[in-house]
Amino acid sequence: MIIVLKPHSTPEQIDHILGRIQELGLKPHLSRGEHRTIIGVIGDENKLRTEPLQAIEGVEQVLPILKPFKLAGREMHPQDSVVTVGRVRIGGGSLVMIAGPCAVESAEVLDEIAGRVKAAGANLLRGGAFKPRTSPYSFQGLGEEGLKILRDTGAKHQLPVVTEVMDPRQVPLVERYADMFQIGARNMQNFDLLKEVGQARKPVLLKRGMSATVKDMLMSAEYILAEGNPDVVLCERGVRSFEDSTRNMLDLSAVPNVKGQSHLPIIVDPSHATGRPDLIPAMAYAAVAAGADGVHIEVHSCPEKALSDGPQALLPNRYAEVLTQIRRLAEVLGKTIAGT
Ligand code: PEP
Ligand code: MN
Repeated sequence: MIIVLKPHSTPEQIDHILGRIQELGLKPHLSRGEHRTIIGVIGDENKLRTEPLQAIEGVEQVLPILKPFKLAGREMHPQDSVVTVGRVRIGGGSLVMIAGPCAVESAEVLDEIAGRVKAAGANLLRGGAFKPRTSPYSFQGLGEEGLKILRDTGAKHQLPVVTEVMDPRQVPLVERYADMFQIGARNMQNFDLLKEVGQARKPVLLKRGMSATVKDMLMSAEYILAEGNPDVVLCERGVRSFEDSTRNMLDLSAVPNVKGQSHLPIIVDPSHATGRPDLIPAMAYAAVAAGADGVHIEVHSCPEKALSDGPQALLPNRYAEVLTQIRRLAEVLGKTIAGT
């Protein structure tokens, strides 16, 4: 349920309404917009049915929330959310440039890549320590050792770090080292994992499942928000299709589609979407033009030696060229790349 307040409702009236909702055992979410203040109510709405809320002073209208994603939706939270990771703001006109290798392989290799992407203008470093691999015989990541390398390398280059967490039991460990959790495509509907990061105190990068609809993705975000973690950034990374010349099919329409329905920032990962370095630059530009709040690109200083996803990695020089173009686009769009 949404309670729309009158334009000149007083702080005392607002406090009174918030108190009334809490007395009924429900959760109020206050959202102050430029023109309107609204209060979203989460919980058993039956408790409200008999309440003459409309009669409380300061209330203009009481409306049902129509979408199933109540916290992720725009109905209750019309203005764009901005998620802050370290000192990097994501959303609200501020773009995040996430870059790094698919996996943390060694301190030396990560140091080289981090230095290059930082110089190019990246503002968040990525690298997997726990890797979800199709084959159990493929490199599975360095685990805690990888997390340490990632944290130390990020600190050295002044880049906050994001890394994947695959299991609810890993959440406290990953939270100790990372500035942001990544939930991978394969785990987008691992609801226990979503609940666990929802209770953690670090932001979450939630990637779209390879067979998930936009609505499924928003419902997964809802799980995290419902546990009390407001800092969710969505990521379009392509979905499975009949097309076999690319790794996945990039659904760029998901960007404006999500923006229309949700206040959460959404970024695009053209690396996993296409799997092809020759297509990544164009799709990165298209993502920014479509309104994405950032781009997530895998970069490796020696792709042929990479322990995972080498064939799709961009060389650091190419990445720098891509960021030069993105900076130009950002300027035209009136956006900035935080920290550069
Ligand atoms: C990754 O970011 O390295 C990754 C495994 O991505 P996805 O979950 O989108 O496949
Ligand atoms: Mn990868």
